[in-house]
This record gives sequence, structure tokens and C-alpha cells, in this order.
Amino acid sequence: MSNDTDTNSTETHHVTFLGRGLALRSSDRLTLLICPLCSQRNGARIAALGTCVWCGYEPSPRDEEPVTMAHTCGEATTII
Ligand SMILES: [Zn+2]
Repeated sequence: MSNDTDTNSTETHHVTFLGRGLALRSSDRLTLLICPLCSQRNGARIAALGTCVWCGYEPSPRDEEPVTMAHTCGEATTII
């Protein structure tokens, strides 16, 4: 018996666009939840299109930045 460690390709994770907006990235689909340009929230049907219905923004894959859920603020150095 072999234990295959398959990476779950159907897994989704949140991404931002250069630190703005919010989208949900799955294996081959992008759901634009909050537009990085106009900060408007897209409805579920529109969000699935991956384009902002308000300003027509089309997210560029190279602008995507994964959102790190684990914020380690404990050791953060405060820069004044
Ligand atoms: Zn927009």
C-alpha cells in the first residue's frame, strides 16, 4: 500500500492585488470579491466572472499576492 500525498488542486485561497482588493483563487478560476481599484464588492454571480462590474477592472495574474492568514504580529518591530 502506497501513501500518495496528493496536493489538493481544488483548494482555494485568498489573494490580493498588490495589497488591495480581495479575490478567491482556485486551481483555474479567479473570483473577484472586492475590486482593488474602486473597492466595490461584487455580487456572487459577477464575482465568478473575475471582472469588476463597477469599473470593469480585469485582474492581472502577475498582480496577485497570496494572503497570509497567519499574522505573526508578536515579534514585529515597531518602526517609528
Ligand atoms: Zn472596480
